[in-house]
Amino acid sequence: GKSDIVVDDEATIYEGENSNLTVGIRIRPMNFKELNDPKILSVVKVKGTDIIVDCESTQHTFHYDHCFVSYTDTSRPTHASQKIVFDGMVLPLVHNAFEGYNVCLFAYGQTGSGKSYSMMGSESITSTLSVPCDDAGIIPRFCYEIFLQAALNNNITTVEISYFEIYNEKIHDLLGNNSNISGSKRAPLKVREHPVLGPHVVDLTQHVVQNYEDLQTWLKVGNSQRATAATGMNEKSSRSHSIFSIILTQEQKDSTMSKSSKLVDTSRRSKINLVDLAGSERLSQTCASGDRLREGVSINKSLLILGKVIASLAESTNNRKRGFVPYRESVLTWLLKESLGGNSKTAMLATVSPSSLHLEETLATLRYACQARSIINRVRINED
Ligand code: ADP
Ligand code: MG
Repeated sequence: GKSDIVVDDEATIYEGENSNLTVGIRIRPMNFKELNDPKILSVVKVKGTDIIVDCESTQHTFHYDHCFVSYTDTSRPTHASQKIVFDGMVLPLVHNAFEGYNVCLFAYGQTGSGKSYSMMGSESITSTLSVPCDDAGIIPRFCYEIFLQAALNNNITTVEISYFEIYNEKIHDLLGNNSNISGSKRAPLKVREHPVLGPHVVDLTQHVVQNYEDLQTWLKVGNSQRATAATGMNEKSSRSHSIFSIILTQEQKDSTMSKSSKLVDTSRRSKINLVDLAGSERLSQTCASGDRLREGVSINKSLLILGKVIASLAESTNNRKRGFVPYRESVLTWLLKESLGGNSKTAMLATVSPSSLHLEETLATLRYACQARSIINRVRINED
């Protein structure tokens, strides 16, 4: 039969290259259950920088800046390891941070699609090795790369980290020292807007880390606090956003002379936010009663506002004018204000399942990511 291909590219506004926003998709491997059920098919494929989704008589094609596919059988030539994802999509952001840009990277997708695996990696990442293990995700690799770059240049580099989560629009420190109180019982922290430095969390714990071993110690603390808070709270982790922040400060080594002069500012400061977002699954699928409903509503709200913020930033970049950006409508976007827009580079890694079981959520994620990129390409093939 002949194929009738319709490409709807009226929404093509810009190509990613000169943009401050890049969007990548990562397809996780089929899991054991999916592989062993003959009714479940793998329906999401990568072709270059396109994602192709096979529905019954329709094929959807979406275009992105980066597409990665991971297989359980890692011998396949197209297998995207943690290193390949990092080198392809994140390493440029490390360089941007050293150039003085603020940087923000999100993992967006339904629960179980690979957000935490991509951002953090498996348990073994905190086994105190001096280099990231194969399974290490974006957060440990980002920090490791900062230490490498810092050793190569001639500046005094300071790396300060913090790690917290937002649950029901409330902020909880994951690196605080009162670890005998469970996360939910601790009083939430507040946001305040500094006239120069922008919005920040009041009394949030900050740690200076000197090397990769230091970092792993704090990741272990933070991840175990996140896990402790999740048990007994209805898989809270799927309904909370976790934010790992780095403040990178570079000072020239020979700045002793200029320090006395107020006119010369020799330090460069950039803020990096690495965000593991709450599951994007729709409110209709969550149990619609009491607390659960409130959780669903606030999560949907912050993901919705995030979408609005990204859309209005993309629009103002394209039209070269400043429009209204609704940062303050959610805690998440308010806190990320300085690293979204303005002097910043933003990346979104949308994670999807390849399985026919999750087709609807996968299409919703791919559309959200496309919208963020302001490009929607849809190809319909009608077979006869
Ligand atoms: P999410 O954080 O989006 O809910 P997870 O990152 O916890 O999802 O991933 C769900 C499961 O799939 C985990 O067991 C994880 O180890 C596995 N997984 C996800 N992505 C990959 C990948 N690219 N390669 C191997 N395993 C993965
Ligand atoms: Mg997760």
